[in-house]
Amino acid sequence: APTIGVLALQGDVAEHVAVLETLGVSTGKVLSPEHLDSVDALIIPGGESTTMSKLARRYGLIDPLRKRVAAGMPAYGTCAGMIMLADEILGGTADQETVGGIDMTVRRNAFGRQTESFETGVRIDGIGDEPFDAVFIRAPWVERVGPEVTVLGRVPGPGEAGRIVAVLQGGLMATSFHPELTGDTRIHRLFVDIVKGHA
Ligand code: GLN
Repeated sequence: APTIGVLALQGDVAEHVAVLETLGVSTGKVLSPEHLDSVDALIIPGGESTTMSKLARRYGLIDPLRKRVAAGMPAYGTCAGMIMLADEILGGTADQETVGGIDMTVRRNAFGRQTESFETGVRIDGIGDEPFDAVFIRAPWVERVGPEVTVLGRVPGPGEAGRIVAVLQGGLMATSFHPELTGDTRIHRLFVDIVKGHA
């Protein structure tokens, strides 16, 4: 059975580890290139992407992360983790680096001041019809996706199509919101299925 690591530089690491344990998935915290080598797939948690970017560089993880993702390791990023998996970001700091891998442009802190944090039901493709209770905390949204990217979910927003908040490209998945906080394991289960499909 595959091991799914959780990048443990910063953010809500314990919450993701707990969900994976609930699902009976072998997991562990990833804090070094050696740890990264030992996992089959990776979750990048929510937190603060600027800090995560700095720490990834300091721990010698940014290049190994880029290599593993480029080599096809499945990864799932939530919120700050979504930012880390974006090929392009808007509203980042000058020295902010991402791992990349998903052909998309993500805007940091996109929902603005009035709505720093909110909760809403979102339909997500691939997990059944029941809306997912999605928690957004200073969340990004996706402003552009490339042709290889499948949009899995949106929230209402300017324009007919709304704002993109969940995407999939091959083995790489990202959500603007935090499914590790609500006890609904459907999105983690979707990722576990993706990981097993890649094995
Ligand atoms: N605003 C944070 C960032 O830009 C993300 C917030 C979160 O992960 N909840 O990194």
